[in-house]
Amino acid sequence: KLILAIETSCDETSAAVIENGQTILSNIVASQIKSHQRFGGVVPEIASRHHVEQITLIIEEALEKAEVSYEDLDAVAVTEGPGLVGALLIGVNAAKAIAFAHDLPLIAVNHIKGHIFANQLVTPLEFPLLSLVVSGGHTELIYMRAEDSYEIIGETRDDAAGEAYDKIGRVLGVPYPGGKHIDRMAHEGKDTYDFPRAMIQDDNFDFSFSGLKSSFINTVHNAKQKNEEINENDLAASFQAAVIDVLVDKTIRAAKEKNVRQLILAGGVAANKGLRTALEKAVSEELADVELLVPPLELCGDNAAMIGAAAYVQLKSNNYADFSLNGRPGLSV
Ligand code: ATP
Ligand code: MG
Ligand code: FE
Repeated sequence: KLILAIETSCDETSAAVIENGQTILSNIVASQIKSHQRFGGVVPEIASRHHVEQITLIIEEALEKAEVSYEDLDAVAVTEGPGLVGALLIGVNAAKAIAFAHDLPLIAVNHIKGHIFANQLVTPLEFPLLSLVVSGGHTELIYMRAEDSYEIIGETRDDAAGEAYDKIGRVLGVPYPGGKHIDRMAHEGKDTYDFPRAMIQDDNFDFSFSGLKSSFINTVHNAKQKNEEINENDLAASFQAAVIDVLVDKTIRAAKEKNVRQLILAGGVAANKGLRTALEKAVSEELADVELLVPPLELCGDNAAMIGAAAYVQLKSNNYADFSLNGRPGLSV
């Protein structure tokens, strides 16, 4: 079965053709980062305008690269949320138009489920599983008993992990989004600053990163005021160590408690080298019977292939949307 998938939830315009939820025939991603960088973050109006300009071209390119035409498709899938409402609507309306014109079923996909199913494009998912979703807007531990069952067993009480990375990136003056730059700097530095590991001892699976972020900002400001030297690489390394400690600790504990077969890393922050390495080490030492899935780098950030993978579950159960489909900015799994 062939699905044309569309993703426009934030600042990537993407279209993909996916076979049986598992094989990527094409996955075109047009990033708008350069247009948002000078504002230090995503500007919703600019994002929508770029999506409008790009969407038709990107869809055509995805079909061409996959060497398929609309007649070959079995369904069209699109991210309905969460995300920026104006950005979501561009994808939703494009998908509706295609579904209507070519008489195809329409599948509405949750972006976060997409991040999880990015892993299915490499290795078949096996249940029960636990997924650590770490992205620009989310930090969640999601337990899945089966393919279509989602339970959030822990989440951030304030900032998402990616959001914290981007905010401290701004303090260090690296380009938006700061995550990958901080990651690179962290590998040049040492964990010498003493930053808090919030909630690490707490008897729950929730996270908090705003205290760490404040502590980081205070350290930089105080040093500047006293004219003390700061080592930016060491700061990055210390920040990253604190983030990874809490993420890994709580994830391993949750995976043990839930007795899962697979542990999945998902979302933009899954590209973090330090996190990937630390999680691999912890799983091999503490969860001998658990299979760890980490998405390839190109499938960590936003892309339509992951939406096509998640959509296949809905295709199999005829879980379709109708033409009243709308963007749902605050949608949860
Ligand atoms: P959401 O998926 O929650 O709706 P989003 O789609 O904007 O939000 P993603 O595209 O999934 O978020 O991820 C982007 C985030 O990933 C940014 O915050 C970015 O800084 C972060 N990120 C990317 N690479 C790295 C890295 N190597 N280390 C840490 N963070 C990273
Ligand atoms: Mg993005
Ligand atoms: Fe995302």
